[in-house]
Amino acid sequence: MRQPDKTVLRGGTSLPRPFASGPPPLQHQLREREAPARAAGTGTPKRGRPRSRALLVGAGLCAGVGACLALLRGGGGPDNDILSATDFRAFAIVAREAVSPSAFELAVRADGPGAGSGPSPALARARAHGLWSVEVKQPQLQIARHYTPLPSPRRCGDDGDDGDDDDDDDNGRTLRFLVRRVAGGEVSTYLSKLRVGDRVWLRGPHLGFDVGRRRGGAGNVVFLAGGTGIAPALQIAARLLDGGSEQGGPPDVSVSILWANRYAADALGRPQARGGASSLPRWWWSLGRSQVPEIAEAAGADSVLAHQIRGLQRRHPDHFHIAYFVDDEGTAIGARDVRLACDSGASPVQLPPANPSCPWHSPAALEQLPDDKDAGRHREGCVCRGPGVGADLLCVSGPDGFVAAYGGPKVWRDGAETQGPVRGMLGQILAEEEEKGNMRNWLVLKL
Ligand SMILES: Cc1cc2nc3c(=O)[nH]c(=O)nc-3n(C[C@H](O)[C@H](O)[C@H](O)COP(=O)(O)OP(=O)(O)OC[C@H]3O[C@@H](n4cnc5c(N)ncnc54)[C@H](O)[C@@H]3O)c2cc1C
Repeated sequence: MRQPDKTVLRGGTSLPRPFASGPPPLQHQLREREAPARAAGTGTPKRGRPRSRALLVGAGLCAGVGACLALLRGGGGPDNDILSATDFRAFAIVAREAVSPSAFELAVRADGPGAGSGPSPALARARAHGLWSVEVKQPQLQIARHYTPLPSPRRCGDDGDDGDDDDDDDNGRTLRFLVRRVAGGEVSTYLSKLRVGDRVWLRGPHLGFDVGRRRGGAGNVVFLAGGTGIAPALQIAARLLDGGSEQGGPPDVSVSILWANRYAADALGRPQARGGASSLPRWWWSLGRSQVPEIAEAAGADSVLAHQIRGLQRRHPDHFHIAYFVDDEGTAIGARDVRLACDSGASPVQLPPANPSCPWHSPAALEQLPDDKDAGRHREGCVCRGPGVGADLLCVSGPDGFVAAYGGPKVWRDGAETQGPVRGMLGQILAEEEEKGNMRNWLVLKL
């Protein structure tokens, strides 16, 4: 998933419409035209008068033309939403913080025409979906890359003690990102140079796998995250845990994240045991509660990401676990860690293996998928049979090399990047467990 998205706008078919200089949206123009009449005390024009009829016809025509233009541009949402899947829209940087020598967090708010302050349908749809990203444009080079918004603090905050209340969050319209500056990288280097008050241009949301639907009634989601691959893991944790169970009770799923970084400084939110000992045992969640050492502090404690991790741990102590691995300290995610995470899940029910032709739960069908755009597949139904349907999920998210090492490389087929067969460490674990009759209902999602 971390593969650079080589969306080149220059010369492409999806050139953004001029965003800074174009006319305001039609609805806005109409409202401005009405205003002088009201100010002059003329009020709403009376029905039936020829002039008002002409105005109404004109307004109707304008609305029609507006709708046609939106359709021609291929836009799905209203023109005055803060995000569009087809146009780049302006946002202003409202906060920026370096959280490690190579990573920084950015918070951005809509700043273009029609930015308004009401809820954004596009954002609401994306958050309800779970996994999503936006493209950020480098305007000089006219190239764009995907970045994954961290969950909204309203959904995944620190129980209010981090100052991220609704007002601060601007009705949930503030987007926050963890960005790693890649040496020689075009867009990440450009972003690293921006300051509070500068503008950025975003397009989206782009919805990914529908994790809720693929999980169905299964109780385990295990994430192997490399570097900034933590962002989609937190999106999923927030979506599955903060929403509670479908019946309205506590969560019926457990989310375990195994987060690998090259350097200790990037292991944001990693607790340190009191008394100068290094970090906690990686599998500390499996210790009895009385055995867990007292926690003194966390790396990057003030970062948004650390706040969000702490919030999830506090709200869901029995359903959310995170373990840290650091290359520099000689620790890497091993098969034992993966097995432990898979075993420690909630999974109260043993679901039957999926029907091999089920588009939602069969590993064979997943392997062939041309993309991760599950939102466009909702008309295809699940064809599994049994008392419950679904699949426990093993998600791998990070740079290409990381995804390939743990889940096997994605495979290009007919011009599309498919999931490809599950290989690497996860392929080996699943094959070994299957021989023993275990883990027969797991899906591997490569993000
Ligand atoms: C769906 C999706 C979501 C993403 N979300 C995030 C996010 O939240 N935060 C984030 O920081 N990035 C994220 N990425 C990665 C991001 O889109 C860019 O690929 C990354 O910022 C590098 O882009 P660049 O233009 O700076 O580098 P480029 O100019 O594209 O690349 C320069 C060189 O660096 C290499 N390179 C690129 N990315 C990496 C990497 N991650 N590790 C090591 N080498 C690399 C390239 O192979 C190339 O050799 C996401 C990618 C996808 C597909």
